[in-house]
Amino acid sequence: MIDFVSTKRNYALYQEEYEEAALRAFRSGQYILGPEMERFEKEFAAYIGRKDCVALNSGTDALILAVRALGIGPGDEVIVPAGTYIASVLGVTENGAAPVYADSNEYFVMDADRVEKLVTAKTKAILPVHLYGQCCDMDKIMDIAQRHGLYVIEDCAQCHGSAYKGKKAGSFGQISCFSFYPTKPLGALGDAGAVTTDDPELAKKVRMLRNYGSRVKYYNEIIGVNSRMDEVQAAILSVGLKHLEEMNARRIDIGKKYLAGIKNEKLRLPRTSPDSSNVFHVFPVCVEDREDFQQYLEKEGVHTLVHYPVPPYAAECYRDQGHQKGEFPMADYIADHEVSLPIYAGMSGEDVQGVIDVINRY
Ligand SMILES: *Cc1c(COP(=O)(O)O)cnc(C)c1O
Repeated sequence: MIDFVSTKRNYALYQEEYEEAALRAFRSGQYILGPEMERFEKEFAAYIGRKDCVALNSGTDALILAVRALGIGPGDEVIVPAGTYIASVLGVTENGAAPVYADSNEYFVMDADRVEKLVTAKTKAILPVHLYGQCCDMDKIMDIAQRHGLYVIEDCAQCHGSAYKGKKAGSFGQISCFSFYPTKPLGALGDAGAVTTDDPELAKKVRMLRNYGSRVKYYNEIIGVNSRMDEVQAAILSVGLKHLEEMNARRIDIGKKYLAGIKNEKLRLPRTSPDSSNVFHVFPVCVEDREDFQQYLEKEGVHTLVHYPVPPYAAECYRDQGHQKGEFPMADYIADHEVSLPIYAGMSGEDVQGVIDVINRY
């Protein structure tokens, strides 16, 4: 059997270091808002090339608190991709703001050429999602934002270490959101997330929001939540960050092997924009008859997933937004035809070749 992802194998890559870091945190007696978290915030901000990083509980919280810290709420609109994971949009709707959808492009990320037409008097921000490991067209998005006075909130949950024209994802716009869900390019051993920013006021605001709305214990200036990254996850993430480039290199190598080795006319292989690197969080292929293809692979012992079968605009929970399936042809095409092949840092070369051979016989 070839797993879609093996978190066990990913763990085994750096097991000793993870365990040493976790024990250090366990034995410190300090579990919340401690030195491990502070250290990770500094390390991650430096890695991304931002002045600050605020460590949080999850990527979803990062999106919710980023939108909240910018003061976006009821009556406001945020332009989001039609094809993405729903958490990108939850950050907007959780604050009572309205998502306005832009279709995906041939690289399966938000089509920057569709964004400007969607700007209205109510638009407050653009929320590009660097989906599957590659970056959106940030020159165009930053230019539109500047000309219309809009904020840019990046969703970098799938692209730790990826870069647009050499500048890292997470270093564009006012604030950028990361998830460290275990299977992400940089993953914790539980839930975790963060925002990065160059704006000290925004960083201060998110720091307050994550801790009940207070800076000084028991003095609450604003209404906050509890969304703190715990010391154990922070210690684990410092280890992961040290090896992130190495883990990304392994996935990029697998991506290259798939692109060179898979020869089957029934498949559309993923394309990467010449302006972006691609850390291949997901390797998305498209096939006409997805059910047949996935069944064949399953029978041959290759596990696959679909990212994602229902685009957010068509999700049941967003029925009241009044959108119909068919409105966003590219996002729909991806939702109906995409299959994600196994790709993860701990994957063996034998498994990679196995996937290629099985697919070439399809
Ligand atoms: C994983 C993910 C999130 C949510 O992150 P969590 O840490 O699981 O809350 C948000 N956006 C995208 C694009 C994601 O892939």
